[in-house]
Amino acid sequence: MNKEIIVQKFGGSSVANIERIKNVARRVVATKTKFNHVVVVVSALGDTTDELEAMAFQLSKNPTDREMDMLMSTGEQISCALLAIAIKGLGKNSISFTGGQVGIITDTSHTHARIQKIDAKRIRKALDENKIVIVTGYQGITEENDITTLGRGGSDLTAVALAQTLKANVCEIYTDVDGIYTTDPRIVQEARKIKVITFDEMLEMASLGAQVMQARSIEVAKRFNIPLHVRSSFSKEEGTMIVQDNEKLEEVAVRGVTCNKSEAKITICAVPDKPGAASKIFTWLAKAGINVDTIVQNISHDRQRTDISFTVPDAQFTKALATTKKIAQKIGAGEILDDQEIARVSVVGSGMRSHPGIAAKMFQTLADNKINIDMITTSEISISCIINYKHTDKAVRALHKKFNLGQI
Ligand code: ADP
Ligand code: ASP
Ligand code: MG
Repeated sequence: MNKEIIVQKFGGSSVANIERIKNVARRVVATKTKFNHVVVVVSALGDTTDELEAMAFQLSKNPTDREMDMLMSTGEQISCALLAIAIKGLGKNSISFTGGQVGIITDTSHTHARIQKIDAKRIRKALDENKIVIVTGYQGITEENDITTLGRGGSDLTAVALAQTLKANVCEIYTDVDGIYTTDPRIVQEARKIKVITFDEMLEMASLGAQVMQARSIEVAKRFNIPLHVRSSFSKEEGTMIVQDNEKLEEVAVRGVTCNKSEAKITICAVPDKPGAASKIFTWLAKAGINVDTIVQNISHDRQRTDISFTVPDAQFTKALATTKKIAQKIGAGEILDDQEIARVSVVGSGMRSHPGIAAKMFQTLADNKINIDMITTSEISISCIINYKHTDKAVRALHKKFNLGQI
């Protein structure tokens, strides 16, 4: 037998019910015949995390982050224990652990904690005892023994971080689609599976709304050059490889289209147009922990006042609005406008660097479909437009078609 080690992560849909847990258990047991050491990371069953969150909000409008972590982390404990039980039922030795038990130490930023170190002592010991190790995704523990979570979709991060710590030979991410697609296959039927994608492109797609991988997990995979294989837990087919090197990739201008409906826009009207105003606004927002994304400052009509708009994640909207109102008062700005009915549509591709005209083509496509653009933002490998959320699916379909992404 070889000495290889594999980390396999199974997402919520892969363990949504007893039959699916049995399916995962069979796959894991089959993997153990090919790899010496198998470490499995699991997400919570189906929509458990959403359901737990909803319960908390039925009890309080503003539950504390610490209690939310205590609550949300329980979903993964259930699936982790059930999978270990299922594997034992198949006659293989297995043991389940929480993130805390395997020494995933994080900072104290509850609900979006960052991993500081992983000792993985108990994992190594269990692997030496020939056990299949199952670890709860999405969570760690602080130095003070408080449970933390790693942000939504954080089981991907647990898998990548463990693959790095254990120097795994392979890291597989199992989900309900058979790889990374040119766009969300739930929105566009013609979406096509991408065979190989770079970390940079995947990071951009994930940050701009492609839910299939957590963006932070891709950051870590890129930093330590851990190739990821994203594939379906319901088929044996090869999925998508996410890799560093794009030498062998064909140079396509646009690799994929993404959308994000979970943002809101805030506008501060009549901000005094003088040095330091923007700095004050965004310093205070940052101090309040608000993640500001697109920022647009309009031209000043009377040369003394200007409007500044920015977007924030839906989850931070209430806090961001309250903070902005306070800031506006302090700096003598005018009224605050807000719009929760926005969406971001983006095109992503590293070939964009050498293909001019992508932005013009994107704007024309939206215009042809009578979709108004509210804000525009670009990076080296992406262009995003903020539009009314009602038009999101139409915009995604039109852009996917215009850039011929359905064609091989
Ligand atoms: P898991 O529970 O396995 O972590 P997620 O629900 O987090 O799965 O992510 C998988 C879903 O991501 C798919 O069902 C798909 O609808 C969605 N998705 C969004 N964009 C893409 C994309 N570009 N390629 C593949 N899937 C995508
Ligand atoms: N269960 C967590 C979530 O739904 C973590 C994950 O699935 O990756 O966000
Ligand atoms: Mg996920």
